[in-house]
Formats: sequence, C-alpha cells, structure tokens
Amino acid sequence: MSAEPRLTGRVVLPGDPGYDDAREVYNARFSRRPSAIVFCQDAQDVANAVRWATARDAEIRARSGRHCYEGFSVVDAGLVIDVSDLRSVRVDRERGVAVVGAGADLITVYDALGQVGVTLPAGSCPTVGIAGLTLGGGFGLLSRALGLTCDSLLAVEMVTADGEVIRADEREHQDLLWACQGGGGGNFGVVTSFTFKTHPVSEVSIFRISWPWGELPSVLEAWQAFAPITDERLTCILKLTAMSSGEISCVGQMLGTGEDLNRTIQPLLSMRAAAPVNVSIETMPHLNAVGQLGGIGGDPDRWTVHQHQAQASFKNASAYAYERFGAEAIAALTAELSRAPSARCLVQLDAYGGAVGRIAPDATAFPHRHAMWSLQYQAYWTAAAEEKENVAWVERARRAMLPHTRGAYINYIDAELEDWLTAYYGANLARLSAIKAMYDPREVFRFPRSIPRSLPEAAGASGSSGAPDTPNIV
Ligand SMILES: Cc1cc2nc3c(=O)[nH]c(=O)nc-3n(C[C@H](O)[C@H](O)[C@H](O)COP(=O)(O)OP(=O)(O)OC[C@H]3O[C@@H](n4cnc5c(N)ncnc54)[C@H](O)[C@@H]3O)c2cc1C
Repeated sequence: MSAEPRLTGRVVLPGDPGYDDAREVYNARFSRRPSAIVFCQDAQDVANAVRWATARDAEIRARSGRHCYEGFSVVDAGLVIDVSDLRSVRVDRERGVAVVGAGADLITVYDALGQVGVTLPAGSCPTVGIAGLTLGGGFGLLSRALGLTCDSLLAVEMVTADGEVIRADEREHQDLLWACQGGGGGNFGVVTSFTFKTHPVSEVSIFRISWPWGELPSVLEAWQAFAPITDERLTCILKLTAMSSGEISCVGQMLGTGEDLNRTIQPLLSMRAAAPVNVSIETMPHLNAVGQLGGIGGDPDRWTVHQHQAQASFKNASAYAYERFGAEAIAALTAELSRAPSARCLVQLDAYGGAVGRIAPDATAFPHRHAMWSLQYQAYWTAAAEEKENVAWVERARRAMLPHTRGAYINYIDAELEDWLTAYYGANLARLSAIKAMYDPREVFRFPRSIPRSLPEAAGASGSSGAPDTPNIV
C-alpha cells in the first residue's frame, strides 16, 4: 500500500505568519485565500504537492512570478504550488545553453546570463516569472531580432498530473515541448526547470521618441508602415496614452550602434506631419539597457529589485493587427483614448515581424506568427472606486477595435474575452486539446481559462482561427 501523500517543502497555511504575503499576487484586484501554499525546494516537493492535492480532489494552481493579469495563479480553498524558490540559473557558455529554475524572475535570468555575455529574448518587467512568460510565448525588445522567449526553449522538466517528473525535449515528449512553446501556463503540468538556447550579446542601442498627443493619427500611420517591417535588429513599441496625458511615445532597442539606430528610425524622426518633442538615443551594454527599459535604472550595481514588488491595480486586454489600420480604425482608437477615464490608460502596440514571423504558426503552440503587431489595452488605478470605469474602458476600447483586429495573446489573459480558446490558440487549439487529453485526462490542472481535454464542437472541429494562415508581412 502506498504511503499517504504529504506536503513537503516550505508549507504556509492560513493563520501562519507570512500567509498574507504568501497569497498575494501582483494584481491587487485579486485577494484569494488558498488552503495551503507550498514553496517547493525541488521537483520532488512539486510531485508530492500534486499527489497531495489530487488525493483530496483539491484545486491546484502553479505559481512562479505571480504576474498573471487575472490572478489565476492563486485560488480560494485550493493548493498553490509555488516554484519561486527554484531560481538558479546555470549557464554553459560553450554549449550555448542555460538551465533556468522555473521560479526565476526575469531580472535574475538577465543578470546571470549577462555576466557571461549572453541573453534570452524575454520581457521587460524585471519581476515577471520566467515560467508564465515562456509558457505563453514571451515577447520583448529583442523579439524581432531573436524571436519569442519560447522560440529559444529546448527542454522542460515537468511534474505531470500523476506526480511523475518527466523531461520534454526534441527526443522525448516532443508534443509536450511544442505545447510549452505558447500553449500557456497552468495547463499541462508544473514546470520545474527550462533549458534555453542562449544568444551572445554585447552593446545595444535604445531610443525613446515622444510626440504631442494631437499627432497620434500621423504617428500611428508612420509607425505601422515602419515598425513591423524595418531592420529586424530593431524591436519597438508604440505607447498611445490617453489624451489627458498630453503625449504619446515610442520606445525601442536595436542590436546595433547608435548610428545604425539613428539611420533606421528616420521614418519616425523625419515625418513631415509630426515633429517629435523629445528624442533620446543611447548605446550601452545590453544588461544596462535591460535595467533602463525595465524601469530600475541603467546601473546593475544599483539595482534593488524585490521579487514581489508593490502590487498594482490594473486591467489589461489584448488583440492582434494582421493588416494596417485604415482611417476608420485610427479614428476609433483616437476616440477611445480621448475619453479614457485617466491619464494612466493606454493602448500599447508591440511590433512583430522579423524573427517572430519567420516561424510557422503551427511550428510552436504560439499561433500569431503573422500578426503585424499586438495591441494591449491597459488601465491602472489607485482607489477601489476607480475600478469599474477603468475595467469598462478597457473592454469598450477592445470592442471598438474588434472590426480591425483578431485573436488575443494568452499572456495578456483576459477574463472578459469571449471565444477565448480560438482567440488565444487559433488553428493550434485542436492539437493542444489532444495533448491535454494525453497528459492530463482528469484535468487536474484546471482554471477558468485552461485548455480542456475535449473541445466544444464549434471551437475545435474546424480548427477555425483567430489567426489567418497566410502571412501579411514578408
Ligand atoms: C508588469 C507586467 C509586465 C509584463 N511584461 C510582459 C512582457 O514584456 N512580455 C510578455 O510577453 N508578457 C509580459 N507580461 C505578461 C506575462 O508574461 C504574464 O502575466 C505571465 O503569465 C506572468 O508569468 P508569472 O510566472 O509571473 O505569473 P504567475 O501568475 O505565477 O503564472 C502565470 C500563469 O502561468 C502558470 N504557471 C506559473 N508557474 C508555472 C509553472 N512552473 N508550471 C506551469 N505553469 C505555471 C500559472 O498557473 C498561471 O496560469 C507582463 C505582465 C506584467 C504584470
């Protein structure tokens, strides 16, 4: 008879000192009370936790950096399996690979890799977890040059629904590795480590341009004709802030010199219709740029990053543009930004193309390879009383743009989105669901936006897609 499963690792229960810190997630909108939180110290602790929870039929949530937009990595009355103590980064410079603990936050990863002159294309926020980011895709300011984070993924170590520790790579469990490249966190098992291909990097150049808000239509026209098709060493994002903020801006990073960058961004700098109010171009070691772009300053010796930084109250949603916006779309976006409830509302456009678009939509689980850019509708607020109008604005702006956009990004997960399975996974949905049925037939890993083991007829059978199969960018 097998022994009764028990929780091992650092277990925090309701009433224990530190319980409130342990259950907190980054988005202050969500305050949930798990029946236990286990901070795992190795894969065996994770396996014990999965067995413990399944023996009790308790809900499970895997958690790494706590940055899920909808707080899905914590649950009332269930078990949170937290991997944030698994944060080691082992780099093999000669083989060009790094093994990263699934609980490492991005700044830990960048820092460890940067010490030996390599990096990963990953996100900008220093405290986002490598697990959620990679499993959903992972876009950042090196993506047009080096791809999404999941494109550098070579292998995962994962604890399955049966509590087995397995490795998925190009030889074993290939389907599972494919699913971990954009299929989203929390669906197939609990990842304990990732093996990535690393990329040599030295100096980069970064820029910021701002324009008066009234130039939005001209700037957007120029940006959309430029950002997804320009020199792929450059990745840039356009921040269309609310009218009350007074200005809009573009930020980007290039694997190249300041001269290269200056030459490349001329279409943004020399628009006849819209003169910038501010332009800065700087060249620096990549690690310094990571700090600068991540809001913690350009000097790694002075970084003070707390893994679980102060919470923020926010609502974000997303969509993709597969074609350039016409006058109607630009007018709709301008109208929504002019009636946003606060200056902290914005729509951020992340330019795709380059290395992101060279991979086929079915080569990894991430389907939006041929999108020209993503849109992220964002609202932030302080007082609880401001929540309703901010959430409503995000939803209104997203809906206003529906005729001009399609699909959505799983890492910008959105509880309001209808038809979310198709929006997130497009034509890859049926394969993802089959992989779910194979690895987690009892749906032990289940949350309000998890992939089901079988699909409703309308979603799966046609393979119909939020993402068209034909590229719009060459
Ligand atoms: C401030 C901020 C900045 C961001 N910037 C970017 C960006 O630049 N680029 C980008 O692409 N995205 C960005 N994101 C989105 C981010 O990628 C997602 O929110 C991501 O899911 C966060 O991962 P996490 O591990 O921090 O979160 P968590 O809340 O811990 O987890 C997110 C999801 O992954 C699951 N999960 C966590 N750990 C594991 C594991 N070990 N095994 C299996 N499943 C697991 C969880 O159950 C949950 O469903 C940003 C988010 C925020 C809040």
